[in-house]
Amino acid sequence: MSKGWIGVDLDGTLAKYDGWHGPTEIGEPIPAMVERVTKWTAEGKNVRIFTARAAPQGPHGENDPTVVLAIQSWCSKHLGIILPVTCTKDHGMIELWDDRAVSVEPNTGRSKEEISRANTIAAYDRGHEAGIAVGMEKIRKEINNTTNTARREAFEAGMAAGLRKRVDSSSAHGKGYKLGYANGWEKKRSVLARVEELHDELERIIEDLNDETT
Ligand SMILES: [Mg+2]
Repeated sequence: MSKGWIGVDLDGTLAKYDGWHGPTEIGEPIPAMVERVTKWTAEGKNVRIFTARAAPQGPHGENDPTVVLAIQSWCSKHLGIILPVTCTKDHGMIELWDDRAVSVEPNTGRSKEEISRANTIAAYDRGHEAGIAVGMEKIRKEINNTTNTARREAFEAGMAAGLRKRVDSSSAHGKGYKLGYANGWEKKRSVLARVEELHDELERIIEDLNDETT
């Protein structure tokens, strides 16, 4: 068994927190987290309550032995086990579960959330590019299969127009997507609708050019 320990924050992580009611007043247990901690302790993992309530000089005068007793009593009641209480990190701490913590990629200064968002946008852009490539390939095949010169020229003009539209829509799409991602799904939907409009417009341009020459 590992000698390391898992730190679990109390307020807002293991116990509900809706504001300060006093150093020994602890909120109701949060079931999912209680279940997780109970599972860990059953597996023999070392878990410590990691809380600023145990700080020697907290803003609410927590330097009071009854605080730790209150937390341990809460643990006994809701977890069925008394856990160590600390506000100190040491080399044995292998994980910290805390509603205020931000997970950071080692040695890069980037948050895991930033990385995830960047990966999502990159994957989306790749998908968008792949979709466009398939569409352009279809148009190229049409061009290659066309023997009528006027028709062929029309296709080529349509394709050039399509490429210009593609640049517009791709750029609008990319910017809009990022904006939508930050500001919410509603904006993203409107951007997607705009992109669909542009795609439809492109199809109409190609069709019109095609009709004019047939
Ligand atoms: Mg907290």
